[in-house]
Amino acid sequence: MAQTTRVGREANRRILVVDDVATNLRLVEGHLRREGYQVQLAGSGEGALRAIEAQEPDLVLLDVIMPGVDGFETCRRIRANPATRHIPVILLTSLTDLDHKAQGQRAGADDFVTKPFDRNELLIRVRSMLRIKALHDRLKQKIAELESAKIRLRRLADTDPLTSLYNKRYLTEGLRIEVARAERYHNELSLIMIDVDHFKAINDRFGHQTGDVVLQQMATLFVNGVRSIDIAHRYGGEEFAIVLPETPFAGAVFVAERLGEQVRRHRFLDVDGEPLAPITISIGVASRGAEAADAETLIKLADARLYDAKQRGRNCVVAESNVLAESVSG
Ligand code: GH3
Ligand code: MG
Ligand code: MG
Repeated sequence: MAQTTRVGREANRRILVVDDVATNLRLVEGHLRREGYQVQLAGSGEGALRAIEAQEPDLVLLDVIMPGVDGFETCRRIRANPATRHIPVILLTSLTDLDHKAQGQRAGADDFVTKPFDRNELLIRVRSMLRIKALHDRLKQKIAELESAKIRLRRLADTDPLTSLYNKRYLTEGLRIEVARAERYHNELSLIMIDVDHFKAINDRFGHQTGDVVLQQMATLFVNGVRSIDIAHRYGGEEFAIVLPETPFAGAVFVAERLGEQVRRHRFLDVDGEPLAPITISIGVASRGAEAADAETLIKLADARLYDAKQRGRNCVVAESNVLAESVSG
């Protein structure tokens, strides 16, 4: 076996050599190993396809005339498989079959080396093919990076930085989808709107930073207080909205009452970790139905009921319409 005399970038490049004649395999293997490449060998088209699947090489040097699956067919199969389509193929053709080049090109080969070949020419072809492959790999990597950046940006655009809850923009888009889904599958859908009572006083007495950490604790309480398929949003400053898919009106009222109770009992802490006096919330509940058939009306209705809860003295849940709410839905 030839000794590796070079190290460097070549050491990371894998080349598969395919030939049914063992002496040809050993000859090519020797040239490539001396350059420091990692070399795999296959004695048939079938063996080559298996090797490519198992350990994706950076380049395939492929003999044309082989018993069984010949070089053309092997090349066609490499190109037909989306997982291997991008791997460059150099066909090793013999001088006497010139028209093989055209045939090989149709089969998807990238380049040709004519047998008997000159060692230097073989290496030049190999290097330039590997250069193209490296460019392709880098491009693929960049595309993957762009994709994940897109996901990160999307997440930034959809969420509120203070609480990590979804934001108002996400609610207005998402609720439209939830309403359409509920309509299509005849599912129930409810919405809870929450506003912290006298929140301005918390800011005024304890400072804006304490106001912020209270909002964060409130967000955690809401996320933990509902099912994982329910979606909590920060709708505005100290206002929250929770979408409850597949939840009927009575279920949503139950959840709202429970959240109100949890907030009443919760020991909120100030920015220094000192306990604050109890805090309360006002809640409006609405469900998709005759009086709120679309997302916009559903939000308006829940918001109107929330407003009504404030009018009634705060620290309560309002789930039925008064005159004000009816004027919204009508
Ligand atoms: P009500 O019971 O009627 O809801 O009274 P309230 O004081 O909660 O309502 P109001 O709308 O008068 O005040 C809301 C306050 O919320 C005022 C605003 O400064 C505060 N606020 C809004 N966003 C933030 C925020 O991100 N951080 C902090 N600390 N305060 C906020
Ligand atoms: Mg408030
Ligand atoms: Mg408010």
